[in-house]
Amino acid sequence: MPVTGEGTTPTGGNPPAYSTVRKNGNMNSENGCNHPEHVDGAEPHALPMPIPDPPIQYTKLFINNQWQESCSRRKLPVYNPATGNLLCEVEEADQEDVDEAVSSARAAFQSGSPWRSMDASDRGQLLNRLADLVERDRLILATLESLDSGKVFLLAYFVDLLASIKTLRYYGGWADKIHGKTIPVDGEYFTYTRHEPIGVCGQIIPWNFPLMMFAWKIAPALCCGNTVVIKPAEQTPLSALHMAALIKEAGFPPGVVNVVPGYGHTAGSAISHHMDIDKIAFTGSTAVGKLIQKAAGDSNLKRVTLELGGKNPNIVFADCDLEYAVEQAHSGLFFNQGQCCLAGSRVFVEEPIYEEFVRLSVERAKSKVLGNPLVPGVDQGPQIDQKQFDKIMELIESGKREGATLECGGFSWDQQGLFIQPTVFSNVSDEMRIAKEEIFGPVQQIMCFRSVHEVIQRANATHYGLAAGVFTNDIDKALTVSSALQAGMVWVNCYNAMSAQCPFGGFKMSGNGRELGEYALQEYTEVKAVTIKVSKKNS
Ligand code: NAP
Ligand code: MG
Repeated sequence: MPVTGEGTTPTGGNPPAYSTVRKNGNMNSENGCNHPEHVDGAEPHALPMPIPDPPIQYTKLFINNQWQESCSRRKLPVYNPATGNLLCEVEEADQEDVDEAVSSARAAFQSGSPWRSMDASDRGQLLNRLADLVERDRLILATLESLDSGKVFLLAYFVDLLASIKTLRYYGGWADKIHGKTIPVDGEYFTYTRHEPIGVCGQIIPWNFPLMMFAWKIAPALCCGNTVVIKPAEQTPLSALHMAALIKEAGFPPGVVNVVPGYGHTAGSAISHHMDIDKIAFTGSTAVGKLIQKAAGDSNLKRVTLELGGKNPNIVFADCDLEYAVEQAHSGLFFNQGQCCLAGSRVFVEEPIYEEFVRLSVERAKSKVLGNPLVPGVDQGPQIDQKQFDKIMELIESGKREGATLECGGFSWDQQGLFIQPTVFSNVSDEMRIAKEEIFGPVQQIMCFRSVHEVIQRANATHYGLAAGVFTNDIDKALTVSSALQAGMVWVNCYNAMSAQCPFGGFKMSGNGRELGEYALQEYTEVKAVTIKVSKKNS
């Protein structure tokens, strides 16, 4: 594995100035872009640095606010994908451990328990206290996240950590504002609704945004008064376990959040089939999403929300600001090594600017700095593991074989390890596998289109429907195309512009339900209608 002390560009050039990193890169920053690499002006000396050799304090299962070994005593290895080195081993949960976690979450949910009888404002206060602790531990969490997932440290610090903190605070604010209604019915009756927590929520999260997914999952669940059993991805359990320690320190009652690292086919399957879990929320592949929905049907018809993949169109019209669109399309795909369900991996460019767009995109891709993601100046780390690396390389080979033009990249970087050269394909046609399948890697497909009607048809010709981008300075085109696109999020003249307040989720096979924003509250509450017969004796 390459253990690069210094980052270098794929072609061996110098890393760009570190000062191109945004100071306040958040999910909803000034220009709508959340990628720190695109904003100038930050002082190098003001930038945070990772903690050298951070101690890994938490490696056990977290059940009922206690750290414990797994029933089987098995452990799962946790690697640093940038070096291949073993970071630590964590306890590996399986069915029995999940049962125990569910029992503790169920006990915490019983009526009359400290959690159920808590003032809703105090639930909000706990979420805010947790956000304070995440801010306090921001450096250690960003360092752990970078070590564990291969994510660029500064992106972890500025994007993932800030987004997680904002999500916790956003739902902290909602906790005491979840209201039912009074409903006019026949005068002899009085009807009102209560929005009650669903119960024990199973949550299964992936490895591409381990901490942010943890926050997106637990915050709305807890804000509504549910209890949680959460399984981080087998590759990336460390930030979730650190969060468990902070949850205890914040003062959440025992059993409210339980963290059970383990494998999908064992611990994950136990969660999805569990008869005493009332709701499951999953983020990951469409294939596993189907298994989760089936498991819910085969067991207790638990409520299901799914955030799955995408093959997202990013449509660039000739009247756009070309250089800006190139940059947005670049970050919209290469962000997080391309390991992003939102990745704009089908870039449709209008014919008059196609060649120039490809030329500038290739130039930009070649300027990327690969290396150890903890090293300042590096802006592309390794892929998460060998399985993902192999999948991406196989899809790149299919692109070459099927006749797309390989403009740059196309090979592993440094001859070994999990790094892949930033890759750009032009002359991609819609039938090619690279235009149809989710690659989840640093591989950009650029296609040519000629009319609005044509591009809408082609953009929607996919089973996915997560996100889409449109670049144009013509308001009519922007409105027409954004209305016609079958996607849960459409960005106009920006990409990946997200915030805790804004609903997130997909049409079609990109998922069911919505996370974030007010919409997520519906996914974590049951509506109860109470109807009371009004006595006439006083009238
Ligand atoms: P995955 O298998 O869907 O993993 C996501 C989560 O589901 C992990 O916690 C995983 O556990 C768990 N899981 C796996 N099988 C399960 C089962 N039978 N029952 C319950 N839970 C189960 O994704 P992957 O294999 O890591 O990646 C494959 C592809 O999925 C990627 O190439 C990408 O296309 C897509 N993906 C999408 C997202 C997204 O954000 N939507 C995120 C990651 C991956 P383990 O830790 O054991 O795998
Ligand atoms: Mg997996």
